[in-house]
Amino acid sequence: MIGGGLAGLSAAVALAEAGCRVRLFEKRPFLGGRATSYVLPDGEHVDNCQHVTLGCCTNLDDFYRRVGAAGKIRFYDRLVFADSAGRVGAIRSSFLPPPLHLAPSFATFPLLDWRDKHAIAHAMFAIVRSGGRPKDASNGADGVTMLDWLRRHGQTERAIHRFWEVVLVSALDEELGRTDAHYGIDVFWKAFLSTRRGYRLGIPCVPLGELYDGCRKAIEQKGGEVALRAGIRGIRVTHARVEGVEREDGMLDTADYYLAAVPQDVLPALLPAEVAAGEPAFANLHHLRTSPITGVHLWFDRAVMSEPFLTLVDATTQWVFNKTMLYGGGAPDKGQYLQLVISASYALVQRSRQEIIALCLEELRRVLPAAREAQLVKGTVIKEMSATFSPEPGCDRWRPSQKSPLARLYLAGDWTATAWPATMEGAVRSGYLAAEAILAESGEPRKFLQPDLPAEGLARIWAREF
Ligand SMILES: Cc1cc2nc3c(=O)[nH]c(=O)nc-3n(C[C@H](O)[C@H](O)[C@H](O)COP(=O)(O)OP(=O)(O)OC[C@H]3O[C@@H](n4cnc5c(N)ncnc54)[C@H](O)[C@@H]3O)c2cc1C
Repeated sequence: MIGGGLAGLSAAVALAEAGCRVRLFEKRPFLGGRATSYVLPDGEHVDNCQHVTLGCCTNLDDFYRRVGAAGKIRFYDRLVFADSAGRVGAIRSSFLPPPLHLAPSFATFPLLDWRDKHAIAHAMFAIVRSGGRPKDASNGADGVTMLDWLRRHGQTERAIHRFWEVVLVSALDEELGRTDAHYGIDVFWKAFLSTRRGYRLGIPCVPLGELYDGCRKAIEQKGGEVALRAGIRGIRVTHARVEGVEREDGMLDTADYYLAAVPQDVLPALLPAEVAAGEPAFANLHHLRTSPITGVHLWFDRAVMSEPFLTLVDATTQWVFNKTMLYGGGAPDKGQYLQLVISASYALVQRSRQEIIALCLEELRRVLPAAREAQLVKGTVIKEMSATFSPEPGCDRWRPSQKSPLARLYLAGDWTATAWPATMEGAVRSGYLAAEAILAESGEPRKFLQPDLPAEGLARIWAREF
């Protein structure tokens, strides 16, 4: 297995559980890929970027359980939003059955007016009655943008900017005008409409790297091996069949099956040039564009925030996570560590770290009065220029299946065909699908992929009847 991100780890753990002896090579000194944490030169533990999961991410949940990490994720069912005028609104579930369970808090949500809410309710109904698959959200292979779909469904500009954009840009790491409508609609169907617990936000209470401690154990218990700082520099192919992988130190490693779980822009460089250019599954990968995410880490000399996390509706900063609180406290007089996230952060790519920190501080001081008096002790910015593949209209046609066109080579990664956007859930789905494909080929088929949460309440009935 090449790559120890969530795709490689989930495939490795599944295969080890099925009795396979797995050798996993990871280039970096730690596991977790993009969803990991590391120690800064000043000794501070930081996540590569804050990662969150949702109640509807059934495969990630299953993976955390298998590796003993489920207890390190805490779920929150109250989502708090704030605007720059200082108004705050919360969304939480009520006793009503889905899809109406969030309706009471939505009805009293102060950051939207009745025209916005009426338009949003109309679009939500179109999603529900189609079971999350409205016919007008697709246009053959080319797809329709989320923005076009919303305009077609009569959304006000405020509803688009203060509601749809706020939820979807951070969920999908892309602007609405560049997002395939079916991805955007899927977020609302799976997380907010079809089930009661799909929208619950799961946040790790430890640095991300600590979630993978159980993976190595699961692999080694079955006689496998995890090699860190062990980059693979090439995949040797003869007559469309993989013969081995070359390590960076020149050693050749051979196996019965090979799994490449590296990012989509790394894979072609590992293959012989004629294979990378000649096989459409590899040659088409360059069509998958990527989008950036910027994480801003700020340490204050005192407590400035009392919520565990906050979503900002009319600011560059999209999410603010109170890391001190999420990690289990810390005395308020010891200061507070906040992590801010800006997805699809195209506008920040050219801006300096100092400019980004200044911009975020100004926005924070508008919504958190205590931050106005507080001193910033230190701050750092982590720009991930190619954070995720962009869920552009029609991008699914470029996502290859986990069984590659080469004999004995399988693929995993959030970018392979999973029908999910680039998320931890998508990565784990790809890992499970790759493990299933390998086991089927070896004549010992086994299932790992978990089903979606079933639609509940009126969502189940309406989706069937309309
Ligand atoms: C800033 C940021 C924020 C995000 N926030 C969220 C979020 O809140 N929620 C969410 O669900 N998702 C989020 N994501 C997306 C999520 O992190 C990814 O979808 C997921 O982690 C991808 O896993 P992967 O295994 O497919 O790829 P990766 O994590 O990229 O793993 C690939 C691995 O391959 C290794 N590798 C590369 N080349 C070689 C080589 N030659 N030899 C050996 N190893 C190699 C890499 O070092 C890496 O460990 C975020 C991503 C980013 C970047």
